[in-house]
Amino acid sequence: MPQDTQIAIVGAGMAGLSLADGLNRAGIPFELVEARARIGGRVKRGGIDSAVCDLGPSWFWRGQPRMTALIARLGLKTFEQFTDGNLAFEDEGGQVRHDLSYAAMAGSLRAEGGMAAVTQALGKKLPAAQIHTETQVTALAHTGDGMTVTLANDHQFTAQHVVLCLPPRMAAEFSFAPALPTAAVRAMRSIPTWMAGQAKLFAVYDTPFWRQLGLSGDGMSRLGPLVEIHDASAASGAPAALFGFVGVSPANRRQNPQALKTAAIQQLTRLFGPQAAKPREVVLQDWADESFTSTPLDRQSLGPHPIYGLPTALTELAGGRLIFGGTETAAEFGGFLEGALERSAQILTTLQAAAPRAQPIAG
Ligand SMILES: Cc1cc2nc3c(=O)[nH]c(=O)nc-3n(C[C@H](O)[C@H](O)[C@H](O)COP(=O)(O)OP(=O)(O)OC[C@H]3O[C@@H](n4cnc5c(N)ncnc54)[C@H](O)[C@@H]3O)c2cc1C
Repeated sequence: MPQDTQIAIVGAGMAGLSLADGLNRAGIPFELVEARARIGGRVKRGGIDSAVCDLGPSWFWRGQPRMTALIARLGLKTFEQFTDGNLAFEDEGGQVRHDLSYAAMAGSLRAEGGMAAVTQALGKKLPAAQIHTETQVTALAHTGDGMTVTLANDHQFTAQHVVLCLPPRMAAEFSFAPALPTAAVRAMRSIPTWMAGQAKLFAVYDTPFWRQLGLSGDGMSRLGPLVEIHDASAASGAPAALFGFVGVSPANRRQNPQALKTAAIQQLTRLFGPQAAKPREVVLQDWADESFTSTPLDRQSLGPHPIYGLPTALTELAGGRLIFGGTETAAEFGGFLEGALERSAQILTTLQAAAPRAQPIAG
């Protein structure tokens, strides 16, 4: 169980893990509490061929300095998204074309072993006794000289600062004492959680047979159920995989995962030929079903990438002891993994300034 500490971090996704790593290296005491049984948050791998099934984020990009530096520091390898060859395009009537050379994700980078290799490696850098999984926060109270954190099992601990490294809409579910200003609660609910209503489907194969057909594995479809498809194979090409973002709404066909999987494999067969009909594994991840990521509000269509950043209504709460983190509060790369790192680096600087006597440690 978490002990009384200086900094309580709520959420062990990329933001919470990177903040914990920064505090650990600065010698500032912290406890990291995570509701799920695993760390990583929206970073998740799955299936038997898990290294190719990035069920959450797959990519980062050149020009994202913190992701680049973190992966290098962790000693992990990266490779470029495979995009050599033509696009498979399907119109509303199911007619397929293979003569277009468009590649939306050209130049994107992937982590070998999947993005979860990054969060796992980051987690291993932290003292295990300070990471608490299956530890859900339900309430926060400002007591004047600190914060009291209450867990779902009624255990309580205190901290000088609480950093909420989770989507603001998740934090809006907490009970706050004293109650937060109405403007703060409104702001928390109004910030959409990036990709929280999305679903990804993976079809895993022995070989990337589409490459022999001159196809990149990229697909676009106006018929669905997958609307945007990409090669998800390992760096070596085996195991091979295709993945697609599911275009049907959470309220629709996604309620029947088996029917969705069948329709998706039929679609991949239309787009990439008969070899696509026999995947060795099909993995579906519906983020709208994940109660520690998605709220009913996130089932609405997200539209273009929202403008993120920390609203004024979410600053200076509980006398400055309650701090909003997580990618949705990052100004520059909000929504992305890079945004999670960006906001945590900013918070670390603030907390280091508030704890000037802390002794940095190597790591
Ligand atoms: C399908 C999909 C595809 C994506 N693709 C990309 C991509 O290619 N590139 C990219 O840069 N980004 C992508 N993203 C976005 C990326 O996943 C996020 O930017 C990043 O993971 C956010 O990290 P975070 O730590 O801010 O939040 P999260 O990962 O959401 O972490 C929050 C943590 O808080 C925990 N939590 C929630 N409630 C509680 C509670 N009550 N008590 C304790 N803990 C709690 C959660 O379990 C979770 O572990 C994608 C996201 C999805 C879903």
